[in-house]
Order: sequence, then C-alpha cells, then structure tokens
Amino acid sequence: MRLCRFNGNRIGVVRDATIIDVTEPFNTTPTWPLPPGDWIVRQASGLHSAIDRHVAGAEGIPLDSVRLDCPVTSPTKVAGAPVNYRKHAEEAQADANISHGRTVGTIGDYGLFLKANSALIGPSEEVRLRFPDRRNDHEMELAVIIGETANQVGRDEAMRHVFGYAIGLDMTVRGTEVQSFRKSIDTYAVLGPWIVTADEIPDPNALALSLKVNGETRQDSNTSYMVFDVPKLIEFASSFYTLHPGDVIMTGTPEGVSQVFPGDVLDCHLEGVGDMRIKIAES
Ligand code: MN
Repeated sequence: MRLCRFNGNRIGVVRDATIIDVTEPFNTTPTWPLPPGDWIVRQASGLHSAIDRHVAGAEGIPLDSVRLDCPVTSPTKVAGAPVNYRKHAEEAQADANISHGRTVGTIGDYGLFLKANSALIGPSEEVRLRFPDRRNDHEMELAVIIGETANQVGRDEAMRHVFGYAIGLDMTVRGTEVQSFRKSIDTYAVLGPWIVTADEIPDPNALALSLKVNGETRQDSNTSYMVFDVPKLIEFASSFYTLHPGDVIMTGTPEGVSQVFPGDVLDCHLEGVGDMRIKIAES
C-alpha cells in the first residue's frame, strides 16, 4: 500500500496514477493529550483491512490533480545517519568544503543526529535556501518510518517495528556548526512522495536509489552499500531512545552529494517506492 497525505488534511492510497481517498476509516479527531508520534501512522497498521475494503472498487482521482503533502506530520524525531556509505565518507574527507577540517569518523563513533521536525516538507513544497551564499547540498536517502513503538529492540526484532519507506532528502548547509543545527533549517527535510508499507519492500537493504539535478545524474547507488543496514540502525537508535509511530530514520546518503542553487530541479528515484521531484527556491 502507498499511503499519502494530500490537499492538507486528506489521507490517500495511491494506485497507479490515481489517489483513493481513505480518510474515512481514520479517527481524525485526536483527544488531548496526544500520544507521542504521528496520529495517522499510529492508527494505520491496525486499519490495513479497513483501508483495503475502502480501496476495493473505489474510483480514484488523478494523482496530478492533488497537492501531495509530507506523509508524516508529527514524528517525535527525525533521526539521521552520518557517513553511512563508505564512498560518501571518502568524498567528505577529500573535500574540505564538506568536512570543514574535521576528520571524518564512522557512524559507530558519531551515533545518530536529529533533524528538527519543523524542517519537514512534502513534494508539493520547495526547498528554500536560507543561506544561499553558503554551500547547500542534496543528500538522497532511504527514509524508514516507524510503525510500532521500539525501545531497546535487537536486530532480530527490529523490522517488526517498521511501518514503511519513503524517499528522504536530508538537505544540508555545509559549515562548522553541529549537524542538527545545519540540517534543521525549515524545508531541509523532504519526505515523500508517499509511504510504501513494509509488506511491499521485502528487503530495504537492496534498493537502487538515485538523484538527478536538472536532468544530470549526481547520485546513483544502492542501499546494499549502507554501513549500518536498516535493522542495525533501528537497534542502534532504540538503544538510546524510544522510537514512536511516525518517527523517521534517514539512513544516510551515498556518494555524489553536490551544491544546489535556486531554480534547480531535483529528481529522486527509490526502487520500490517511486519518483519524487522537488524544486529549489530562494528563501
Ligand atoms: Mn544525510
């Protein structure tokens, strides 16, 4: 199932080039105090069959007639995996404009960083460059969306806590500040175009992913090159903090990161998930 949010407050299932509105089976009247995490993702796992019934025989509306929003609205955290592809670590070490004099270590040394939730946008929005005089880079990533609360889960149980996958763009301004600051600028966490549920992705550790800037390929790799794979990342993250439904892990970027400028168009592809186009704009 490809679950999306569209036109602001509608929940949809994407089928071919159409969207079927499946808002009705969800409880859209949250009661205070809200449970941690994303209100819709929290319910979605338990509604699979109700949603399927809703979708069966329903008439879709054209995908290109709607505004696709960020599929997750209120995660408790968006975690990021630094240097999780060896070749990206090598390019970062070789380029002072990426590493800024720091020695590039390993993900095991660094741990994960957090991006502010307020940075999240969906594909119908634009990345707005806050500091256009500095180097702003694209980082194309597999994003894992958590479905079931995970605290100190081992590798063997980790995958049971995954709700699904999406394309994640971990936009970054390079510089000397800590990652969580540089990567938390408004619009610097793009998620989309929808969430493909875990049952449709048998192995997230073997997915081709690529990114083009204005039609030119810059990143072209496979999640099989991740240093920490998806279950290891969930084990690692949940050994420090509880992951709640809707929490996002951006799993790191392969080599080929490069600077973007206002007017650029990014075309992202993730095997099994689909394609997402996003535009770069001035602040
Ligand atoms: Mn990244």
